[in-house]
Amino acid sequence: MVSSPSLPLETPTPAHICPFDQACSYLDQAGKELKLEAGLLEILSNPRKVVTVSIPIKRDNGNIQVLAGHRVQHCDILGPYKGGIRYHPAVSLREVSALAMLMTWKCALVGIPYGGAKGGIAINPKTYSVGELERISRRYISELIKDIGPEVDIPAPDMGTSAREMAWMMDTYSVNMGHAVPGVVTGKPISVGGSRGREMATGRGVMITVREALADRGQSLKGAKIAIQGFGNVGGAAAFLLHQAGAKIIAVSTGAGGVYSEVGLDIPALLTYAKENRRNLVAFPQAKPISNPDLLALPCDVLIPAALENQITDENVDRIKADIIAEAANGPVTLEADQALTARGVTILPDILANAGGVVVSYLEWVQGLSFLFWDEQRVNQEMEELMVRAYREVIAQSKARKIPLRLAAYVLGVGRVAQALRDRGLYP
Ligand code: GLU
Repeated sequence: MVSSPSLPLETPTPAHICPFDQACSYLDQAGKELKLEAGLLEILSNPRKVVTVSIPIKRDNGNIQVLAGHRVQHCDILGPYKGGIRYHPAVSLREVSALAMLMTWKCALVGIPYGGAKGGIAINPKTYSVGELERISRRYISELIKDIGPEVDIPAPDMGTSAREMAWMMDTYSVNMGHAVPGVVTGKPISVGGSRGREMATGRGVMITVREALADRGQSLKGAKIAIQGFGNVGGAAAFLLHQAGAKIIAVSTGAGGVYSEVGLDIPALLTYAKENRRNLVAFPQAKPISNPDLLALPCDVLIPAALENQITDENVDRIKADIIAEAANGPVTLEADQALTARGVTILPDILANAGGVVVSYLEWVQGLSFLFWDEQRVNQEMEELMVRAYREVIAQSKARKIPLRLAAYVLGVGRVAQALRDRGLYP
């Protein structure tokens, strides 16, 4: 049996939480603050290239299924397009477009010579076998073969993808080129040119920005009460590193629910438990179960949403009791909730800063690969620490100088740098 083609796969989103509209709204605010020329703002509001490809794959049972794969290239003014590939049921062209735009500001903010892009396929990877996922990844990348490349557009892992998918994609691209091209993707396994420290990089970046934000308030990570929504590649690594630094992780969760302990969770034990119990944490001994909505409402020093976007909305914003919110996920706080929290004096470490550690180490991987010289993990962590702390300090300085919240300050820096490069390069023809 042949399934019907599923193009285009657009998930309708309620207007007030449309991720692309939200991203444009923050861009508008930054444009106003920077007094940006209207024409420049219009250029930056539009992705440069939007590609949707059809991905026919053979399921293990012999059926053919046709998926839609997106790649949105927002801007390459500062360098090759850069951004992850997401496998998640909620993927839509609007979401991918928003995330591509965020990548542009993120790379500019941390000062790495990349533009912004994002890719995605609307699937639940848990419902596909390893062989099926390999066929999906290879066909997706071969459909995009003319649109990507180490000097053109460099994909990386995102939600639902990992080093394994990057290896398949690197191999597919390389076989088609007739020679190995490790620089076409980052986040690869170390065996094929990946960087040490890449896997934990986003979580490490979260830990660094939280550490700096607490230090600015005269607090330290030691004993800080932290709740984390999400226990995957980002939330799990952040939990591990924050726990290692002495923070008290009072709650973590996955999609199946979370666990809570007033005295702090044993994170290494919980990571092992999560692996053994297919990421269902709820019955973890020495902790009480907690729902995702209740986790977000816990009194704590730092709340880290490290799952999907739109988790803190106008519906639950009044319940939030954290002093600091570190956006490990992209877009976890909606526009309305952001305004309400800012008015209440909550410090929001914005996504384009807090979760930039991943793309920073992607950049370090690309640099190591292009120079054929690989560093030890200590050097990688040190280089990324410097880039992250510099970006954090610049955001704080911009926020103080202009008397604006940290998110707007981060956008002003990111958007301002891209706009300046656009002015300097000029418009062709
Ligand atoms: N997917 C990650 C992000 O959203 C990493 C992107 C990359 O390394 O290119 O920042």
